Amino acid sequence: MMKKNVKYEGKGKALYNTDIEGELIQVFKDDATAFDGKKHDTITGKGVLNCAISTFFFAALEDVGIKTHFIRREADNEMRIHALSMMPVEVVVRNIAAGSICKRLGLEEGLVLKRPLTELFYKDDALGDPMINTEHCELFGWAKAEQIREMRALALDVNAVMSNILEEAGIRLVDFKLEFGLLNGDIVLGDEVSPDGCRLWDIETNRKLDKDVFRRDLGGLSEVYHEVATRLGIKV
Ligand code: UDP
Repeated sequence: MMKKNVKYEGKGKALYNTDIEGELIQVFKDDATAFDGKKHDTITGKGVLNCAISTFFFAALEDVGIKTHFIRREADNEMRIHALSMMPVEVVVRNIAAGSICKRLGLEEGLVLKRPLTELFYKDDALGDPMINTEHCELFGWAKAEQIREMRALALDVNAVMSNILEEAGIRLVDFKLEFGLLNGDIVLGDEVSPDGCRLWDIETNRKLDKDVFRRDLGGLSEVYHEVATRLGIKV
């Protein structure tokens, strides 16, 4: 089942058509970008690590009945997935204040939120992924209110599953971003679940184990992703 033509190429991943209708190959690239693509580098090994970590989390989510686009890992940096009709909405879950919410609301980084918070962003690089609400989604046809409710509930379920797994590895799940799509009318988790889209801090020291290492020049990115994988018991 070979890859065919490129269907879509983004900053961190590429999607290829296959000879099976409705199935794609998602390739995890070694490219790292931040600040809307203004900072760019190639990080050898990142694609393989993100593929391994995403595979691990998709499998764990499927185990508890959360539907994802994951079919199987096809190669070190390739995953076979169901093609989804993606919604142009990013769902962010936050357990601890960091990143954009600190700037937006003047919060101190590290503030522990009383309960997990969900936020919605419109997926549009040219606009810098602006924050939106359910009314925007309905009005502009990006998603129905009921679908947003379901995505928020699923994102909180994902948060619970991932937080537990990471905590056992001595890692705090600070925040993360998810993307959902439709498959036969069902809302299904797509994209990736890797340290590229999460903030992960060491529970003891708060040392950063995610893409902030790249954003803020805090050291080797593939080394920390490798540490995350190893702590989760993933062989890479
Ligand atoms: N995030 C992401 N892609 C985006 C925006 C955010 O994966 O386009 C992730 C980010 O890594 C973090 C979480 O979503 O784990 C919340 O990001 P935030 O809104 O704080 O924005 P940032 O500080 O990353 O610009």
